[in-house]
Parts: sequence; C-alpha cells; structure tokens
Amino acid sequence: MLPYGRQSIDEDDIAAVAEVLRSDWLTTGPAVSRFEEALQDRTGAARVVTATSGTAALHMAYAGAGVTRGSQVVTTPMTFVATASSALALGAEVVFADIDEGTANIDPAAVSAVVTDRTQVVAAVDFAGQPAEMDEINAIAHGVGAVTVEDAAHSIGSTDDGRPVGSLADLTTFSFFPTKNMTTAEGGAVASLDPTVGQRVHEFHFIGLVRDRSRMRHPDEGPWHQEVHEWGLNYRLSDVHAALGLSQLRRLDRFKARRADLFARYQEELSGIDGVRTHTVRDGVDPTWHLYPVRILDGRRREVFDKLRAAGIGVQVNYIPVYWHPVFEDLGYRRGMCPNAERFYSEEISLPMFADLTDDQQSQVIDALRHALRS
Ligand SMILES: *Cc1c(COP(=O)(O)O)cnc(C)c1O
Repeated sequence: MLPYGRQSIDEDDIAAVAEVLRSDWLTTGPAVSRFEEALQDRTGAARVVTATSGTAALHMAYAGAGVTRGSQVVTTPMTFVATASSALALGAEVVFADIDEGTANIDPAAVSAVVTDRTQVVAAVDFAGQPAEMDEINAIAHGVGAVTVEDAAHSIGSTDDGRPVGSLADLTTFSFFPTKNMTTAEGGAVASLDPTVGQRVHEFHFIGLVRDRSRMRHPDEGPWHQEVHEWGLNYRLSDVHAALGLSQLRRLDRFKARRADLFARYQEELSGIDGVRTHTVRDGVDPTWHLYPVRILDGRRREVFDKLRAAGIGVQVNYIPVYWHPVFEDLGYRRGMCPNAERFYSEEISLPMFADLTDDQQSQVIDALRHALRS
C-alpha cells in the first residue's frame, strides 16, 4: 500500500544519529542546543525549545501562554485532537471557531465572534501546511489581551509574505512525527517571540527547575541547589533525536520543493475533473505542503476512499471534527456547531504526499482517482 505520508531518511541522517550514540551526551547535550539554535535561525523566533512530540509542544506552549484552570482557549475543530485536548489538560475551557470553507484554516471572523476578556489563547492551525491568517488573528487576540498560538505541525518551512512560520504568532508549535515535513521519529518544538515566555516554556518542559541564582528564593544550600517555583514535566527531546532533526533540517528546502511540485501537479490535473474540488490557496503564501487535501463531492467520499484503498492507495481523512470525539461530547459539545468544518470533513480525502513520492507513483494515484470517480 502506497502510504499517504512517510519519512525520508538518508545516510547522513543515519551517520548523525550514530555519532551521538558514540558521544558522551545522549540527552541534555550539545545536539539539542544546536538543533534549537538552527530552528531559531530558520523561524526567526527569539527562543526555540525542543520537545518529545508535537502534543508535548502544544502543552508547553499553552503553559507558557499562562493557560490555567478556567482560561478560555479558542481554536479550530479542523485539526488533530491534540491542539484542543492539550489545553484541556491544563483545565482550560475550549471554544471552537469555525473554519474558512476554502482553506480549512480557522476563520478570523468566527474567532472575532467568540473571543471574550476571558480568552487567554487563540490557537490557529496551518492546515495542510498553509499558514493561517495570523495578521488578522493576532489583531483580534491582542485586542482582548490574549496570546496567539500557531499549531504548525504541518507547516515548518512555510512562509507568508516572505515571513517564516515561527515568526507569525506569539508562540508556534511544531511536530517531527515521521509523516510530517521533517522528522526526529517522535519530537516537536515551541518557538516563542518573547524570550521571557520562551524561558517559561523551557522550565515547564524541564520539571520546573530554576537554576539561575539571581531568581532563587532560598539561601544557597550548596553546589547542588536548585528550586522548583512552578510545576513542570519532563518533555525533553534527546540528543539522539535532535541529531536526526539537525540533519533533516538541512534538507528541508529540498523536501519543500518536492512537495510543492507534487502539490502543483495534483492541483493542475485534478482541477478539471467533475465531482472533485481542489484546495484553496491564499495569495502571498509559500507553503511546505504536508497534505494534499481534495474534496470529493456529491456524497461520494466514502465510496471513493474505499476504492482508492482497494487500489493500493493509502489515502487518509484529515480530520474528524475535534468536538465529535467523546472526550468533548462528554463535556457537552454537540454536532452541528461548526458547519463548515463538518462539511469539509464529509468531503475530504488526503492523497499521498511525501518527498520521496515518485512521478510514477503520483500518476498511479491520479489514475486511480479518475477511475474511482468514473466507475
Ligand atoms: C501531528 C499533529 C499534532 C501532534 O503532534 P505529535 O508529534 O504527533 O504529538 C498536533 N497538531 C497537528 C495539527 C498535527 O498534525
């Protein structure tokens, strides 16, 4: 089965990992610092803190943004459940704002309609790799004293008007899961524009340990003295994973270029076909495309999905609206609240999209889709 996404690993990646295994530092070592600095350069953020996953990165970003029991977090239902459930983990009340029906990104007008002076965070998602409309969302969020989080699990390397993802929101989170644009096996990161917030994010992912003498509350106990002022977890990425990340980051531009070619060919070849609708791309964005979402019209999504799977094409659906998950249903959320997201979900199929997908494989996907629609 041709997968919808997969990693691209080369001999340099393998050598980079092997080198760390022979070194003194398996974790909290120089590869982690080098990876964080390289991500800072790439994103233009003031501080980047790596994490054990994209989900951990979201938990860290919300903690850094001051989300606590009773805080309101406004987000999109058209995302992986972690964007919202990691805010629940801090006791937040999650409020869903509907998507723009063309881009599947959160609609600024819908955000504007639900924010209040209790909103602590507005969290957008760069669906498929296309940056959310952060200029408008920042203005709305900052207008009510809230912080913006951009879940960029799909979009490392994307730009909007030439500005890199990582510099568009107060806090940006990344995932380095194997299907994403680059991988560390499991891993993630938080980019922060404010270094003080970045330090809070760092401490949250490091058990809350404070080691700066000038901030200590108690007299020095000796060289072993350290303090915890706020609780934290251990979400540290290891040097083994960071070395893979550094090596992958060097090829991100190549991955991006190949994904852009695949996206352009899908758009071109599918745009003329009856019964499908291609994805809307905003002016000014230059995405690293993580997904190729196509809409199957006339109620035929399930049928076409099953036919593609039967033809050996490992298609996926992204995503079940987040509030349909029982964890949200049990809190009282009901179907029907975000009609654009529900409609998008009912039509969407993600076609194979990854850097090592060959032209022949892409032809096979397009032929199989044409065939499924005709039969
Ligand atoms: C993958 C993903 C996550 C979670 O990342 P993990 O590394 O799998 O924990 C969060 N949000 C979105 C939009 C994702 O695609």
